[in-house]
Amino acid sequence: AKEQGRNHYRFYTSDMNERMTKQVELEKGLRKALERQELSVHYQPQVDLDSGRITGMEALLRWSHPELGNVSPAEFVPLAEENGMIVPIGEWILRKACLQNKEWLDAGLLPMRVAVNLSARQFQQQNLVEVVTRILDDTGMPAQYLDLEITESVAMFNEGLVIAKLHDLKSLGIKISIDDFGTGYSSLSYLKKFPIDSLKIDKSFVAHVMHDRDDAEIISMIISMARNLRFSVIAEGVENEEQLQFLRQQQCTEGQGYLFSKPMDPMELKPLLVKA
Ligand code: C2E
Ligand code: CA
Ligand code: CA
Ligand code: CA
Repeated sequence: AKEQGRNHYRFYTSDMNERMTKQVELEKGLRKALERQELSVHYQPQVDLDSGRITGMEALLRWSHPELGNVSPAEFVPLAEENGMIVPIGEWILRKACLQNKEWLDAGLLPMRVAVNLSARQFQQQNLVEVVTRILDDTGMPAQYLDLEITESVAMFNEGLVIAKLHDLKSLGIKISIDDFGTGYSSLSYLKKFPIDSLKIDKSFVAHVMHDRDDAEIISMIISMARNLRFSVIAEGVENEEQLQFLRQQQCTEGQGYLFSKPMDPMELKPLLVKA
């Protein structure tokens, strides 16, 4: 038993070592990923729940690591936020997504928004508004078709500064969405203070809506609150018909999830898009 215990311990530490080695390797790799062109963007449709029409696309980072293969953004984005690489990477994906959407517009497809995630770290950058302005100018993408997704965590920093930046972005014509809504720690007061256009209901609520009454209550509360405050609502992680029916009943305006489409390479997606 003693022997076994020791073995067990050894396995445990080597597993921990392995994980730490992987983190270090990812961290190092991230610094090179951009210049080595290992990053790409997938797009996931956002759908109007009444008409079934695509209203927008969320741009999502993909990383193909030379040794480790595909690494999930859930794994590498937090590391990029820690080491600061999310700033150049975030700028890169914003430019790429604007270029892509402009290309779709020019190809005569039905105009839609492109949604880009903005990390709190990017939000703290002094020149954020200038960077966004320059990217819109360079790409020619009309600001009205850009949607920036921020999380409640941006509100943890200098609130006055955050509000001022949001107003500057809004005055360019950009839409602002709160991502992962309901999972952060902030109070509801910023819904009044921040100039936002929509709330994205976190997929953790949608996942259990059919068997957890609390999650169903939370969703219907978010939707009715959003309606009263005149925000649109996008439900994330819609995977089945039952969830869709529930969201429709609650008059949720839009949805995103595997039921409609997984995130796809733009080449794969284009044939599914509708001509204007
Ligand atoms: P998020 O912003 O909440 O993005 C939605 C995530 O849900 C995506 O995961 C998407 O692939 C996944 N998803 C979509 N439909 C479904 C569904 O029906 N069921 C389930 N279970 N999941 C679904 P992904 O692509 O792995 O991204 C994970 C997270 O990484 C994102 O969560 C976001 O926080 C971060 N991320 C991705 N790209 C970027 C980026 O360009 N910048 C920043 N700052 N963060 C990013
Ligand atoms: Ca998002
Ligand atoms: Ca989310
Ligand atoms: Ca998120």
